[in-house]
Amino acid sequence: MKKTIRDIDVANKRVLVRVDYNVPINAELKIMDDTRITATLPTINYLIEHGAKVILCSHLGRPNGQVEPKLSLRPVLARLTQLLDRPVSFAEDITDKSTAELVNNMQAGDVVMLENVRFYKQEEKNDEAFAKKLASLADVFVLEAFATAHRKHASTYGVAKLIPAVCGFLVEQELQMFNKVLNSPEHPFVAILGGAKVADKLPVIENLLDKVDTILLGGGMAYTFIKAIGGNVGMSLVDSTKLELASKIMDKAKEKGVKIILPIDNVGAKEFSEDAETKVFNSGFFADDYQGMDIGPKTIKAFKKVIKKAKTIVWNGPLGVYEYEKFKRGTNKIAKYVAKNKGISVIGGGDSVAAVQSLGYAKKITHISTGGGASLMVLQGKTLPCVEVIEDI
Ligand code: AMP
Repeated sequence: MKKTIRDIDVANKRVLVRVDYNVPINAELKIMDDTRITATLPTINYLIEHGAKVILCSHLGRPNGQVEPKLSLRPVLARLTQLLDRPVSFAEDITDKSTAELVNNMQAGDVVMLENVRFYKQEEKNDEAFAKKLASLADVFVLEAFATAHRKHASTYGVAKLIPAVCGFLVEQELQMFNKVLNSPEHPFVAILGGAKVADKLPVIENLLDKVDTILLGGGMAYTFIKAIGGNVGMSLVDSTKLELASKIMDKAKEKGVKIILPIDNVGAKEFSEDAETKVFNSGFFADDYQGMDIGPKTIKAFKKVIKKAKTIVWNGPLGVYEYEKFKRGTNKIAKYVAKNKGISVIGGGDSVAAVQSLGYAKKITHISTGGGASLMVLQGKTLPCVEVIEDI
């Protein structure tokens, strides 16, 4: 068990909180979704109430070590100030002595936000001197950036090795939820896996074979499996380097009594485009010039039956090319069935999360993870490096 902010005395301490405020911001600098900001409020409010001096640090976008005014955290500062209903000071330059002065003059309950930490090229290199600079601003480090916890950067990993480091409530909740479903799930336990990156998803399936009863496979990754059992997938996405492994995984599933259910039918398109001509094909019987873009109606029905009976559900990845209106149906239907399920449901990954949120089902899901890559790593059975360096209780 990792220490959290509950396990230490934060009164009058300078507490550096690494949050993930990498929120979508439009051209008018309006925040389109503030979930990642509101998700950190319990931790920030707890620290304020317990007399800490709160220093917030985050990245935004990919400025690649350059100052990019469009990727300034100022819009986030404005939103956070509203949400906290108190002033939050802003430190323009993490490495400048004015920031050290600002931090050293803080009173208990004050909040300071640092400018985008990826404006410094040292950040993503986990540069030791830069990590030391960050550490010099604080007495304690709090990891609250679950979505970045799989990356060894100076502000997520390097600094945690230099000063006492604990988890914030968001990271604690994410770890608890994944721990619960992966280590003590109620059965039937069903995993729904979609998306395109076969290489990332195969280790997830391998890890889940010891835990789940059924795996529903959809999205682009399913075609590698269908091809592996000799089906014709036309022009569908296939990772030809993974055919053998896909086949081995299916054999292993059989041995372990885990059902892997592949799509029965698919919506195929002549091109990878929104207005392509479409046709439904049974799996394995694609026309050579068509590619799979979504799961078909028979598959949706079959998946619904399994989801209905599940007591635990983990879902990662869309079941079709969700970005195109025409190929969203499978993902949206599955989102509806997962939301209707009364058991425990955990969803991670951008598109599957977007589907439940856009349809207004978010409140019906037990846990919506704030981390895509990080949740995938947890589902692969690996420990997040930035969590590993947090002190044990
Ligand atoms: P991932 O990051 O692996 O979860 O993949 C997400 C991406 O998978 C989304 O951009 C989808 O458009 C894509 N995807 C889903 N189904 C398919 C498909 N049948 N063919 C190609 N790409 C797909």
